Amino acid sequence: MPVVKRTSNNVLLDIALKNFYAAAEEMGLEDDLIEILSHSDRKLAVSIPVVMDDGTTKVFNGYRVQHNSALGPNKGGLRFHPEVCMDECEALAMLMTWKCSLAGIPYGGGKGGVECNPLELSKGEKERITRGLAARIEPIVGAWTDVPAPDVNTGGQEMIWLMDTISKMRGNMEPAIFTGKPISLWGSKGRTQATGVGVATCAMELLKVVGKDVKGATVAVQGFGNVGTFTALTLHEHGAKVVAISDITGAYYAPEGLDIPAAIAFANAHPKKLLEGFTQPGVKKLDGEELLFLPVDVLCPCALEGAVNAKNAEKVQAKFIVEGANGPVTPEADEVLAKKNVIIVPDFLANSGGVIGSYFEWCQDLAGFFWTEEEYLKRLNQIMTENFKRVWDYAKEKNVKMRRAAFMVAIQRVADAVRMRGTFL
Ligand code: GLU
Repeated sequence: MPVVKRTSNNVLLDIALKNFYAAAEEMGLEDDLIEILSHSDRKLAVSIPVVMDDGTTKVFNGYRVQHNSALGPNKGGLRFHPEVCMDECEALAMLMTWKCSLAGIPYGGGKGGVECNPLELSKGEKERITRGLAARIEPIVGAWTDVPAPDVNTGGQEMIWLMDTISKMRGNMEPAIFTGKPISLWGSKGRTQATGVGVATCAMELLKVVGKDVKGATVAVQGFGNVGTFTALTLHEHGAKVVAISDITGAYYAPEGLDIPAAIAFANAHPKKLLEGFTQPGVKKLDGEELLFLPVDVLCPCALEGAVNAKNAEKVQAKFIVEGANGPVTPEADEVLAKKNVIIVPDFLANSGGVIGSYFEWCQDLAGFFWTEEEYLKRLNQIMTENFKRVWDYAKEKNVKMRRAAFMVAIQRVADAVRMRGTFL
């Protein structure tokens, strides 16, 4: 019987499944492996009652999906966003399986989060939601089972609330269950900038293989959260001309280049860490989406999924796209961009610096011994550079786009592990 392909009404999950099936077909993956890898090992939905500051009680929906753990403990972030749902978590968990596999680190994929709007929550409300989530996912997380991390709208503080709650519930310190913790509390030097540094490393490796100097190369970075800021900063430090940045307040464009350290200082001083009101000599304010259509060498979409889509892909002028966010270019946009010969470094290669950094933090937590920032960034750079090269060479060898090549390399490693471990009934 041929495999019955799963589809989903959720755009992100449907894309994740389509990408998987297409790569699996191209690789000639056996039906049983297609069947196993197109499903998730475990999906947990929880309800979190929270007493709000005004005294009312609100119930929030929380999720944790573990896609596949053949290569090791599940790994992946927890996001706080109004659009979080089970299907989105499943799509992103699947992406984490491929990301960890491609990165060559000993993890499977996971993802979770809470459906909420953090911009409307006080710090106390956020803490209660986070601790409520921790208590409810406690049975399925652990240093050797599932290791969550920051994702959209979560960071060091949330990781500490999570770690503290579970450590108190278990009666022992459990630092290695969560990564992305502050340096002062079992975090690792270098982890904060890891994802952005990795995105920038991919951009620089790409410029190298196409014979273009990073010095003076023009760059637009969409999104000015953790990933976008360090992508922009690292490229700026290496001599690239970052001409545009953006966040939910709009885009800020200066054809002669922006002073990125000053922009970061500005955003850090804003109560919600936004660029609202940001200006520098020569800066023009644009609509957020317009950043995607600027005449630049490299476009780094580091915000949310679906930014470049069927409706706007034709307008993209960049020659190269390095995907800092997860799923920022839809498959329809991929086709349009392929016709325009735009080279795309896919998300699960480009933004894998985050999870590789998490792996370093986990190793340090398990050993109780910490590395210097220099050691950390050196190893990160080495792994990112090698992984970029592996995918670039494989794409050339198989005459496929980098995204397809990355899927094929990643799926093969997981498939081999599933085959070797076998199916336990
Ligand atoms: N949220 C990040 C990602 O999507 C990091 C995950 C992790 O470190 O586990 O890759």
